[in-house]
Amino acid sequence: MDLFSSLYPFSFCSLASGSNGNCYYIGNGDEGILVDAGISLRSIKKRLSEVGIPMKQIKAILISHAHIDHIKGLSALANTFALPVYASFQTCEGIFRNWSASGIRRDLLHTIEDGEKVQLAGLLVETFAVSHDAAGALGYHIRNNHNSITIATDLGFICDKVSHYLSKASMLVIESNYDDEMLTNGRYPKHLQQRIRGEKGHLSNIQAADYLTQHYHSGMKQIFLCHLSQQNNTPELALKTLNQYFLDKQISKSPETVIRALPRGARTELIHVI
Ligand SMILES: [Zn+2]
Ligand SMILES: [Zn+2]
Repeated sequence: MDLFSSLYPFSFCSLASGSNGNCYYIGNGDEGILVDAGISLRSIKKRLSEVGIPMKQIKAILISHAHIDHIKGLSALANTFALPVYASFQTCEGIFRNWSASGIRRDLLHTIEDGEKVQLAGLLVETFAVSHDAAGALGYHIRNNHNSITIATDLGFICDKVSHYLSKASMLVIESNYDDEMLTNGRYPKHLQQRIRGEKGHLSNIQAADYLTQHYHSGMKQIFLCHLSQQNNTPELALKTLNQYFLDKQISKSPETVIRALPRGARTELIHVI
């Protein structure tokens, strides 16, 4: 399929999002790819089939980084369906070191580094580095000729390059990991709180809200808050923080812009952007 003559609809489904597992489907007509495989193969197959996507439609897997919540189901998924896997060299090393993913067939792994592009399932994939406590962590900007999605998950702050890719996407999947107060008053020890808040940690509700209200434009058709912490956040708090920022800064959203917090242990429906 020719990338720039395609009229196929662009679609997205979050199969899981959060500290217990992450997996996203991005579709381009009757083909698609997965970003991360942090839940079991059984759950991936079940949730895809529930939204009408057969496994043969999946053409490749992109991996953001080698933390367990992003690679738990990777080796079973890739090996069973002989799917090519794209990740940075350092992420590939992390995959080999991880007990749950190290059984992956070496010939399925392809390295892709910060700034590189690859075409998969008729989609153009661009990569950008993110600041996180996993070596070689990448975000992805994925597009066909009509629409685009940027996935920026697990990052301590939004640098100019990440901002560039977020602000040009029609669908944004942006981390909104923790509520400051919940983290401060919760059960996490101080050193872990510091790691989460650090430049190689995670984005808070306030950081996501601040970024989104500073850079919002009506071309942002779908904004998905992702990777919410089970201990230190709720979907209601993440959305409330963002909506309060829009109100306080007196920024009016286009009626076409949809904002949602992605569920942790469940999938969304298949979402189309025409
Ligand atoms: Zn994660
Ligand atoms: Zn991580």
